Amino acid sequence: MPKKRAGSAKHAEPSVTLSLRGANRLQARHPWVYRSDITEANDIPPGSVVRVHDPRGKFLGTALYSSSSQIAIRMISHGSVNDLPGLIAERIRAAIAYRKELVANTDAYRIVFSEADFLPGLIVDRYNDVVSLQILTQAMDAVPVREAIVRTLREELHPAGIVERVEARIRELEQLPALPSGLLWGEKSSSEFRMNGIGFHYDGREGQKTGAFLDQRENYAAAAQYAHGEALDAFCYQGRFALHMAEKCSSVTGVDSSRPALEMAEKNATLNGRELEWMEANAFDLLREYAAAGRHYDTVVLDPPAFAKTKRDLEKALRGYKELNLRAMKMLRPGGILVTCSCSFHVSAADFLKVVADAAQDAHKSLRVLENRGAAKDHPMLLNVPETSYLQCLILNVSD
Ligand code: SAH
Repeated sequence: MPKKRAGSAKHAEPSVTLSLRGANRLQARHPWVYRSDITEANDIPPGSVVRVHDPRGKFLGTALYSSSSQIAIRMISHGSVNDLPGLIAERIRAAIAYRKELVANTDAYRIVFSEADFLPGLIVDRYNDVVSLQILTQAMDAVPVREAIVRTLREELHPAGIVERVEARIRELEQLPALPSGLLWGEKSSSEFRMNGIGFHYDGREGQKTGAFLDQRENYAAAAQYAHGEALDAFCYQGRFALHMAEKCSSVTGVDSSRPALEMAEKNATLNGRELEWMEANAFDLLREYAAAGRHYDTVVLDPPAFAKTKRDLEKALRGYKELNLRAMKMLRPGGILVTCSCSFHVSAADFLKVVADAAQDAHKSLRVLENRGAAKDHPMLLNVPETSYLQCLILNVSD
């Protein structure tokens, strides 16, 4: 248990002292410290800006405090912070500038990616003239911080609307009051955007995450380079792999268990003057049936939801990936293309390579790696923070 210090004038400012392990973590440039590594804390209100010290009392920097999360503090600066809303505005401007160099051929991309943009607890995506954001921590939920976020996004991006997408479970975990999703500013919550020359609808009131899986943007274009013949996009959501591959393939079928996702996929196809087939089905069952019935494809995309939400799920998740990949490999004609993804951050790049290799062994196939990819550059990975690397996308040439 952290010792509580009396609120003397000296310690009026919220501050914490870390165990050696906690201090070493920060020194290694990881921004999180767990509650068990806090050895001393004065009375700290939820969401406070706290000064952080090592066991000898040396000042290490400033962090944002959560009273409920196991991740008790997330570093925001290696120095002192006197004006958090001002610092957040500055970081948002820096994140926007960072993407100016990196993002091309799209008007939809991630603007702020939490820790990876030194803004822990904030996610902002842009869909053309609509900005969609998620607030994930107590500190980011404070009214002056929210105001600074909205003001900066308005000044820098001039959107027609800013929508907040609420993850109810996360607000609960952070012990924040329930809040509906909705417009934070402006009038517009839906739009159309273009990526890699293809048009898509965006509806900020619907869908999963902030609306689209923008982290796959560069992988769509990469997959389209190799796609050919008859293609199957399993776990297709709103059809983005499918639509990217359509130009190169004789037919494309998209499969998802979510009807609203498929309705949007159909609208997206119409927007691009394409006719694709959409199937509402459990992709695991469908692949099992197709593999057993000897159905063949030339290109298969596997982009399932995260199987490993926690470390404990890892074994089960790996079995799930193996099974799916095995079935897809069996269905591919010689020279076929397998685009296989994992977005579980508990599944490391090495784990994923191994599981796909094991599936190849069982399917009696040889795999040549065409591309070994991760998330698009607007979802940067912080090298010292493995949690920021979660998306794997392998593009493989499959032969007998
Ligand atoms: N490839 C998509 C993202 C896929 S996200 C893109 O790039 O936009 C995972 C998708 O799997 C979601 O659309 C979800 O509805 C779907 N899903 C989850 N479980 C499923 C199942 N058992 N069968 C088919 N689809 C499933």
